[in-house]
Amino acid sequence: MNKAPILSRCFGFFLLAVLISGCHTVPETGRRAFTILSVQEEITLGSEAFAEIKKAENISSDQEKNAMLQRVGERIARVAEVDMPQAEWEFVLFENDAVNAFALPGGRIGFYTGMWKVAENEEDIAVIMGHEIAHVTARHGAERLSQSLAIMAVGIGVQQAVRDRSKETQMAVMLAYGAGTTLGLQLPHSRRNESEADEIGLYYMARAGYDPRVAPTFWEKMEAHAGGGSPPEFLSTHPSHGRRVQDLERAMPRALDYYRAAGGAVD
Ligand SMILES: [Zn+2]
Repeated sequence: MNKAPILSRCFGFFLLAVLISGCHTVPETGRRAFTILSVQEEITLGSEAFAEIKKAENISSDQEKNAMLQRVGERIARVAEVDMPQAEWEFVLFENDAVNAFALPGGRIGFYTGMWKVAENEEDIAVIMGHEIAHVTARHGAERLSQSLAIMAVGIGVQQAVRDRSKETQMAVMLAYGAGTTLGLQLPHSRRNESEADEIGLYYMARAGYDPRVAPTFWEKMEAHAGGGSPPEFLSTHPSHGRRVQDLERAMPRALDYYRAAGGAVD
Protein backbone atom coordinates (compact mmCIF):
# COMPACT_ATOMS: atom_id res chain seq x y z
CA MET A 1 0.00 0.00 0.00
CA ASN A 2 1.44 3.41 -0.90
CA LYS A 3 1.42 6.36 1.43
CA ALA A 4 -1.09 8.69 -0.26
CA PRO A 5 -4.33 6.76 0.46
CA ILE A 6 -3.30 6.40 4.10
CA LEU A 7 -2.71 10.13 4.26
CA SER A 8 -6.10 10.91 2.67
CA ARG A 9 -7.79 8.50 5.01
CA CYS A 10 -6.11 10.20 7.97
CA PHE A 11 -7.55 13.53 6.84
CA GLY A 12 -10.93 11.92 6.41
CA PHE A 13 -10.83 10.71 9.99
CA PHE A 14 -9.53 14.06 11.15
CA LEU A 15 -12.39 15.90 9.46
CA LEU A 16 -14.96 13.49 10.78
CA ALA A 17 -13.58 13.82 14.32
CA VAL A 18 -13.63 17.59 14.00
CA LEU A 19 -17.21 17.72 12.72
CA ILE A 20 -18.48 15.41 15.44
CA SER A 21 -16.62 16.96 18.34
CA GLY A 22 -16.84 20.62 17.55
CA CYS A 23 -19.94 22.67 18.10
CA HIS A 24 -21.15 25.26 20.56
CA THR A 25 -24.29 27.34 20.89
CA VAL A 26 -23.86 31.10 20.63
CA PRO A 27 -25.48 32.87 23.60
CA GLU A 28 -28.45 35.19 22.92
CA THR A 29 -28.83 34.24 19.23
CA GLY A 30 -28.84 30.44 19.75
CA ARG A 31 -26.85 29.83 16.55
CA ARG A 32 -24.89 26.56 16.43
CA ALA A 33 -21.25 27.27 15.59
CA PHE A 34 -18.35 25.03 14.69
CA THR A 35 -15.42 24.88 17.14
CA ILE A 36 -12.59 22.51 17.86
CA LEU A 37 -11.06 24.55 20.70
CA SER A 38 -12.10 24.39 24.34
CA VAL A 39 -12.76 27.62 26.22
CA GLN A 40 -9.65 26.91 28.29
CA GLU A 41 -7.56 26.61 25.10
CA GLU A 42 -9.02 29.90 23.89
CA ILE A 43 -8.09 31.63 27.15
CA THR A 44 -4.52 30.32 26.91
CA LEU A 45 -4.14 31.41 23.26
CA GLY A 46 -5.70 34.81 23.92
CA SER A 47 -3.61 35.60 26.98
CA GLU A 48 -0.36 34.61 25.20
CA ALA A 49 -1.21 36.80 22.22
CA PHE A 50 -2.22 39.70 24.47
CA ALA A 51 1.08 39.51 26.38
CA GLU A 52 2.90 39.91 23.04
CA ILE A 53 0.70 42.84 21.98
CA LYS A 54 1.29 44.59 25.32
CA LYS A 55 5.05 44.24 24.81
CA ALA A 56 4.89 45.60 21.26
CA GLU A 57 2.42 48.49 21.70
CA ASN A 58 2.41 51.63 23.86
CA ILE A 59 0.12 51.27 26.87
CA SER A 60 -1.63 54.59 27.50
CA SER A 61 -1.39 56.42 30.82
CA ASP A 62 -4.40 58.67 30.07
CA GLN A 63 -6.23 58.46 33.39
CA GLU A 64 -9.62 59.69 32.29
CA LYS A 65 -9.91 57.37 29.27
CA ASN A 66 -8.49 54.46 31.30
CA ALA A 67 -11.02 54.97 34.10
CA MET A 68 -13.86 55.08 31.57
CA LEU A 69 -12.60 51.95 29.82
CA GLN A 70 -12.38 49.96 33.10
CA ARG A 71 -15.78 51.21 34.28
CA VAL A 72 -17.59 50.32 31.05
CA GLY A 73 -15.67 47.03 30.70
CA GLU A 74 -16.51 45.86 34.20
CA ARG A 75 -20.18 46.85 33.91
CA ILE A 76 -20.69 44.98 30.66
CA ALA A 77 -18.52 41.99 31.63
CA ARG A 78 -20.71 41.57 34.72
CA VAL A 79 -23.86 41.06 32.63
CA ALA A 80 -22.02 38.93 30.04
CA GLU A 81 -20.50 36.66 32.70
CA VAL A 82 -23.48 34.27 32.64
CA ASP A 83 -22.66 33.48 28.99
CA MET A 84 -18.99 32.65 29.69
CA PRO A 85 -18.22 32.25 33.40
CA GLN A 86 -14.62 31.10 32.76
CA ALA A 87 -13.65 34.24 30.82
CA GLU A 88 -10.66 36.22 32.09
CA TRP A 89 -11.57 39.84 31.41
CA GLU A 90 -8.83 42.40 30.90
CA PHE A 91 -9.24 45.87 29.36
CA VAL A 92 -6.15 47.69 28.17
CA LEU A 93 -5.86 51.15 26.57
CA PHE A 94 -3.16 51.61 23.92
CA GLU A 95 -1.74 54.95 22.81
CA ASN A 96 -2.58 54.81 19.11
CA ASP A 97 -4.36 57.24 16.78
CA ALA A 98 -6.26 54.54 14.89
CA VAL A 99 -10.02 54.43 15.52
CA ASN A 100 -9.92 50.80 16.61
CA ALA A 101 -10.59 48.23 19.30
CA PHE A 102 -10.14 44.45 19.34
CA ALA A 103 -11.02 41.36 21.35
CA LEU A 104 -8.95 38.22 21.80
CA PRO A 105 -10.45 34.81 22.61
CA GLY A 106 -11.06 34.30 26.32
CA GLY A 107 -11.65 37.92 27.38
CA ARG A 108 -8.66 40.17 26.60
CA ILE A 109 -9.80 43.45 25.07
CA GLY A 110 -7.74 46.31 23.68
CA PHE A 111 -8.92 49.86 22.90
CA TYR A 112 -6.90 52.48 21.01
CA THR A 113 -6.97 56.07 22.27
CA GLY A 114 -8.00 57.01 18.68
CA MET A 115 -11.42 55.56 19.46
CA TRP A 116 -12.19 58.78 21.38
CA LYS A 117 -11.94 60.76 18.11
CA VAL A 118 -15.39 59.30 17.36
CA ALA A 119 -16.68 58.27 20.78
CA GLU A 120 -17.95 61.35 22.59
CA ASN A 121 -19.10 59.82 25.87
CA GLU A 122 -19.36 56.70 27.98
CA GLU A 123 -22.42 55.38 26.06
CA ASP A 124 -20.42 55.43 22.81
CA ILE A 125 -17.61 53.45 24.45
CA ALA A 126 -20.28 51.02 25.72
CA VAL A 127 -21.40 50.37 22.11
CA ILE A 128 -17.88 49.24 21.15
CA MET A 129 -17.33 47.43 24.45
CA GLY A 130 -20.59 45.48 24.06
CA HIS A 131 -19.57 44.51 20.52
CA GLU A 132 -16.08 43.34 21.59
CA ILE A 133 -17.31 41.44 24.65
CA ALA A 134 -19.92 39.77 22.42
CA HIS A 135 -17.14 38.54 20.08
CA VAL A 136 -15.61 36.84 23.15
CA THR A 137 -18.73 35.17 24.57
CA ALA A 138 -19.91 34.14 21.07
CA ARG A 139 -16.45 32.56 20.67
CA HIS A 140 -15.93 34.04 17.22
CA GLY A 141 -12.14 33.74 17.43
CA ALA A 142 -12.31 30.02 18.11
CA GLU A 143 -14.86 29.61 15.30
CA ARG A 144 -12.61 31.39 12.77
CA LEU A 145 -9.56 29.40 13.82
CA SER A 146 -11.50 26.12 13.63
CA GLN A 147 -12.75 27.03 10.15
CA SER A 148 -9.26 27.85 8.94
CA LEU A 149 -7.97 24.51 10.22
CA ALA A 150 -10.82 22.64 8.53
CA ILE A 151 -10.34 24.57 5.27
CA MET A 152 -6.64 23.74 5.40
CA ALA A 153 -7.40 20.06 5.94
CA VAL A 154 -9.86 19.99 3.02
CA GLY A 155 -7.34 21.94 0.92
CA ILE A 156 -4.75 19.24 1.51
CA GLY A 157 -7.40 16.70 0.52
CA VAL A 158 -8.08 18.61 -2.73
CA GLN A 159 -4.37 18.74 -3.43
CA GLN A 160 -4.20 14.97 -2.93
CA ALA A 161 -7.08 14.46 -5.36
CA VAL A 162 -5.37 16.35 -8.19
CA ARG A 163 -1.82 15.23 -7.46
CA ASP A 164 -1.53 13.16 -10.68
CA ARG A 165 -2.57 16.09 -12.92
CA SER A 166 -0.21 18.57 -14.53
CA LYS A 167 1.36 21.28 -12.39
CA GLU A 168 -0.82 23.89 -14.20
CA THR A 169 -4.02 22.03 -13.36
CA GLN A 170 -2.95 21.62 -9.76
CA MET A 171 -2.16 25.33 -9.48
CA ALA A 172 -5.46 26.33 -11.10
CA VAL A 173 -7.48 24.06 -8.80
CA MET A 174 -5.72 25.31 -5.68
CA LEU A 175 -6.13 28.95 -6.73
CA ALA A 176 -9.83 28.44 -7.43
CA TYR A 177 -10.17 26.65 -4.11
CA GLY A 178 -8.42 29.51 -2.32
CA ALA A 179 -10.61 32.20 -3.89
CA GLY A 180 -13.74 30.12 -3.38
CA THR A 181 -13.13 29.60 0.30
CA THR A 182 -12.18 33.20 1.01
CA LEU A 183 -15.19 34.76 -0.70
CA GLY A 184 -17.69 31.97 -0.24
CA LEU A 185 -17.00 30.84 3.26
CA GLN A 186 -14.61 32.95 5.28
CA LEU A 187 -15.85 36.48 4.58
CA PRO A 188 -19.60 35.82 4.88
CA HIS A 189 -18.95 34.04 8.16
CA SER A 190 -16.95 36.96 9.34
CA ARG A 191 -19.66 39.45 8.28
CA ARG A 192 -22.22 37.29 10.03
CA ASN A 193 -20.02 37.34 13.13
CA GLU A 194 -19.86 41.15 12.99
CA SER A 195 -23.65 41.42 12.80
CA GLU A 196 -23.99 38.90 15.59
CA ALA A 197 -21.56 40.88 17.78
CA ASP A 198 -23.59 44.03 17.04
CA GLU A 199 -26.80 42.33 18.15
CA ILE A 200 -25.44 40.62 21.29
CA GLY A 201 -23.47 43.77 22.16
CA LEU A 202 -26.67 45.81 22.01
CA TYR A 203 -28.36 43.46 24.53
CA TYR A 204 -25.32 43.55 26.82
CA MET A 205 -25.06 47.34 26.90
CA ALA A 206 -28.80 47.59 27.60
CA ARG A 207 -28.62 45.09 30.46
CA ALA A 208 -25.66 47.02 31.87
CA GLY A 209 -27.91 50.10 31.96
CA TYR A 210 -26.59 51.96 28.88
CA ASP A 211 -29.24 53.31 26.50
CA PRO A 212 -29.06 51.03 23.42
CA ARG A 213 -30.61 53.76 21.24
CA VAL A 214 -27.22 55.48 21.00
CA ALA A 215 -25.84 52.52 18.97
CA PRO A 216 -27.25 53.39 15.50
CA THR A 217 -26.15 57.02 15.95
CA PHE A 218 -22.70 55.91 17.05
CA TRP A 219 -22.22 53.68 13.97
CA GLU A 220 -23.34 56.66 11.86
CA LYS A 221 -20.58 58.74 13.44
CA MET A 222 -18.12 55.93 12.67
CA GLU A 223 -19.27 55.91 9.05
CA ALA A 224 -18.92 59.69 8.79
CA HIS A 225 -15.43 59.44 10.25
CA ALA A 226 -14.45 56.84 7.64
CA GLY A 227 -15.55 59.46 5.09
CA GLY A 228 -17.45 56.97 2.94
CA GLY A 229 -14.16 55.20 2.27
CA SER A 230 -15.36 51.78 3.38
CA PRO A 231 -15.23 49.03 0.75
CA PRO A 232 -18.43 47.58 -0.78
CA GLU A 233 -20.12 45.02 1.41
CA PHE A 234 -19.30 42.04 -0.79
CA LEU A 235 -15.56 42.28 -0.13
CA SER A 236 -15.67 43.79 3.31
CA THR A 237 -15.51 41.89 6.57
CA HIS A 238 -17.89 44.40 8.08
CA PRO A 239 -21.55 44.74 7.21
CA SER A 240 -22.41 47.76 5.07
CA HIS A 241 -23.56 50.70 7.11
CA GLY A 242 -27.21 50.65 5.98
CA ARG A 243 -27.44 46.95 6.73
CA ARG A 244 -25.89 47.47 10.14
CA VAL A 245 -28.39 50.16 11.18
CA GLN A 246 -31.28 48.05 9.85
CA ASP A 247 -30.15 45.03 11.89
CA LEU A 248 -29.77 47.18 15.00
CA GLU A 249 -33.28 48.57 14.59
CA ARG A 250 -34.62 45.02 14.34
CA ALA A 251 -32.91 44.07 17.62
CA MET A 252 -33.91 47.32 19.35
CA PRO A 253 -37.28 46.31 20.91
CA ARG A 254 -35.67 43.38 22.76
CA ALA A 255 -32.74 45.60 23.80
CA LEU A 256 -35.16 48.23 25.11
CA ASP A 257 -36.90 45.58 27.23
CA TYR A 258 -33.54 44.78 28.82
CA TYR A 259 -32.80 48.47 29.27
CA ARG A 260 -36.15 49.03 30.96
CA ALA A 261 -35.56 46.02 33.25
CA ALA A 262 -32.16 47.51 34.17
CA GLY A 263 -33.96 50.66 35.32
CA GLY A 264 -33.47 52.76 32.19
CA ALA A 265 -36.09 55.32 31.17
CA VAL A 266 -37.50 54.47 27.74
CA ASP A 267 -40.49 56.82 27.33
ZN1 LIG B 1 -16.20 43.24 15.36
